[in-house]
Amino acid sequence: MSLYDKLGRQITDLRISVTDRCNFRCVYCRSADPENYREHDEILSWAELERLGRIFVGLGICKVRITGGEPLVRDGLENYLRYLHGIGVGDLSMTTNGHLLAERCEALMAAGLQRMNVSLDSLDAIKFEKITRTRSYDAVMRGIDAAQATRFAPIKVNAVLVRGFNEDEVEAFAAFARERGLIMRFIEFMPLDADRHWSRELMVPAAEVYKRIHAQWPLVQIPHEKSETARKYRFADGAPGEIGLIAPVTQAFCGACSRIRLTADGKLQTCLFSKEDRDLRALLRANATDPEIVEWVRGVVNDKEEGHRINEPGFVPPSRTMVFIGG
Ligand code: SAM
Repeated sequence: MSLYDKLGRQITDLRISVTDRCNFRCVYCRSADPENYREHDEILSWAELERLGRIFVGLGICKVRITGGEPLVRDGLENYLRYLHGIGVGDLSMTTNGHLLAERCEALMAAGLQRMNVSLDSLDAIKFEKITRTRSYDAVMRGIDAAQATRFAPIKVNAVLVRGFNEDEVEAFAAFARERGLIMRFIEFMPLDADRHWSRELMVPAAEVYKRIHAQWPLVQIPHEKSETARKYRFADGAPGEIGLIAPVTQAFCGACSRIRLTADGKLQTCLFSKEDRDLRALLRANATDPEIVEWVRGVVNDKEEGHRINEPGFVPPSRTMVFIGG
């Protein structure tokens, strides 16, 4: 069985947010003082997540990315990964801020996790603190070291550039990719921040990042899958490492989108910018049968948005911010 929307896009990728809690308060994501977490019973239990994982795999989902909030703050994550691996999820990955990673790498790998994205928004401890509002720089660097030592492959490091905070670090990040032999990805700041500070002026377009890196170390484009979010480049001089540019705002890739998202509180989102909450949790808790859930999912996916409309006049950001969706 496969999942298609009405535009003929096949949905093969599911991002599962396992918690809305996070131990960071990044300026482009959360408020400084966000004590607005969902109550525990509002969050899907591991048993509910296992059931949904099985149903989605039955619908042709073959790529699952675990996210949050911060996935490593929820106990039981390794068991859930083991479950997903066991039911045949071929491509199992996770996005993390890296704070709790160093001690968990071996267990995560043993549980079947194959790939990892670590967020790192500055290579300078002081700036890192300003952006994340934590003093976790050393812990995150230890996490990246451990992930490389555990041979997670590939390791992608994600930076969201925000003008006035870290846009001066483009070349330093590229040098980091070359020295460490990892994939450094630059993500355009999207209007999904809790404080609603997003503006085009604060966002650093991917074209600017490309120009700056290419001027110092010429880049050669690497072919990518149509549905991939990143445009990928290697260094022309043969240095290790790779650059990825993710440009949802300036070069939207909605036409080939293969993704849906399950939020920690059980909403099914067909776009980061979905306006509606499609309540899968209510269905689960009303004792719906598997065929009823499948039918419902098909209907929701069928209506997947054509695109995010950020660049259209009158665009209004969704009420759910990134931490409540799962990036
Ligand atoms: N806690 C994990 C982490 O820090 O990677 C996973 C959740 S986080 C919401 C997932 C990704 O979303 C991170 O790479 C983060 O940088 C990105 N993100 C958060 N807010 C964003 C925004 N307004 N624009 C672009 N990316 C954003």
